[in-house]
Amino acid sequence: MRISCPYCGERGLEEYSYLGDATVTRPRDGGGAGGDAWNDYVYLRDNPSGLHRELWYHAAGCHAWLVVTRDLQNHAIASVALARDVALAREFGE
Ligand SMILES: [Zn+2]
Repeated sequence: MRISCPYCGERGLEEYSYLGDATVTRPRDGGGAGGDAWNDYVYLRDNPSGLHRELWYHAAGCHAWLVVTRDLQNHAIASVALARDVALAREFGE
């Protein structure tokens, strides 16, 4: 599998580290969020089939955090975006 980093271009998988599911979001209320919300955030993950958003880190390259949308059935990558841009879009709708 090869991932196309927005800064470095297409690079082999060995340059990246998988950091988990990019669809989970931290409870907004910090310490005020209920125990169930934190339990879900820390421990519960779906086991999807098909397109899924994942967090990857370009460890042997530019050290960018990326959100990779990948088909889990055939590993085809649909899109790669900077995690920063995804977080800003989520927060401010940009
Ligand atoms: Zn890079």
